[in-house]
Amino acid sequence: MNQQDWLSIDKKHIWHPYSSMHNPIPVYPVVAAEGVYLELEDGSKLIDGMASWWSVIHGYNHPQLNAAINSQLDKMAHVMFGGLTHRPAVELAELLIKITPESLEQVFFCDSGSVAVEVAIKMAIQYWYASGQSEKQKLLTIRSGYHGDTFGAMAVCDPISGMHNIFSHILPSHYFAEAPTCKHDAAWDQKDIISFKTLLEQHHNEIAAVILEPLLQGAGGMRIYCPEYLRQVRKLCDEYKVLLILDEIATGFGRTGTLFACEQADIIPDILCLGKALTGGYMSLAVTLTNSKISDTISSNPPEVFMHGPTFMANPLACSVAVASIKLLLESPWQQRIAQIEKQLSNVLIPCSTLPQVADIRVLGAVGIVELKKPINIEQVQQKFVKLGVWIRPFRNLIYIMPPYIITPAELTQVTDAIIEVVNTL
Ligand SMILES: *Cc1c(COP(=O)(O)O)cnc(C)c1O
Repeated sequence: MNQQDWLSIDKKHIWHPYSSMHNPIPVYPVVAAEGVYLELEDGSKLIDGMASWWSVIHGYNHPQLNAAINSQLDKMAHVMFGGLTHRPAVELAELLIKITPESLEQVFFCDSGSVAVEVAIKMAIQYWYASGQSEKQKLLTIRSGYHGDTFGAMAVCDPISGMHNIFSHILPSHYFAEAPTCKHDAAWDQKDIISFKTLLEQHHNEIAAVILEPLLQGAGGMRIYCPEYLRQVRKLCDEYKVLLILDEIATGFGRTGTLFACEQADIIPDILCLGKALTGGYMSLAVTLTNSKISDTISSNPPEVFMHGPTFMANPLACSVAVASIKLLLESPWQQRIAQIEKQLSNVLIPCSTLPQVADIRVLGAVGIVELKKPINIEQVQQKFVKLGVWIRPFRNLIYIMPPYIITPAELTQVTDAIIEVVNTL
């Protein structure tokens, strides 16, 4: 089949993420990927500024990750996790318990980030049910969040960008506080927490948990906020007896400069969701971690079991590559690499904040965000980036990057030069 033929089958029959089947935005055929580069079918190479949506932190086709998955493949690709167990799962659980904040000691393996959020919500609700407080079933979150595309997760995404109106008759309704406005390093203003605190004061009797993305909100708007907000949230959750779920599916594994973003606020959640970079971008795998207080309460009260168990739970290939990816990260100079990316992004992008078309520039860890005043024509802008040899996929009015940590200063310069060139044409 020639390229024209198979691309036309794609266009005619395949839904891509958030796409229309009528005049879909063109997709580019990738045939290989190596290091920070994607190789298209015409032989051109693009530097991946997106790390395939936060996940490919070590770059593509990494020999150590390939070796881990190949060696597991020779033993077994998959077995059911009901009634069976295997070393890759146990090794991964042990490693996750070691590197995540103290007290998170129980691990539930999920097949994607959205499922990890569903599991977290179920755990929180079942914890209160088991504690004899089954009226605590609602969630409290902040505006501009993103937690996944399944129904439970979607119900805590920002109501506008999550299109709640279409599904309002079947989505559970939760509480939404104003999104924090404090900048990452700005002085704390107590006003920022008022909306959150008021909702908690009024409704804590029916709220099972707070769920939010710490420090950096991803697909809901790419907003960055200050650690003090999180400290206040933790304090209020304790005061009003509400669990705290942190969704670190995007921020986990170093992206914001610390291994987990919650470390910057020095807080520990009751439930933590991880995904995306967990396997270094090799396979879909996510986890929900919790503490023994929650697991004990659930396990010692009827129905005594936690009712969840996906078919591909703890897939051995995914677990083995996750173990290899975490080891690779911990052995690498990841802090210096991320600090270097942050410094370079700040130096180059922040001066663009004076451009008339730019609303705001934000940088945190290995994430750089250019917020424009007007929505972007994604098709045109994506095409311009491809011509400049970089892969960047904007959304709404946001051009943002979160490259693999192994990107060199020269490669990152190519990416930021392309951003500046494209922004200047808007
Ligand atoms: C991507 C993401 C999810 C959903 O993960 P999937 O693997 O796409 O289901 C949930 N929460 C956050 C913060 C994310 O960035």
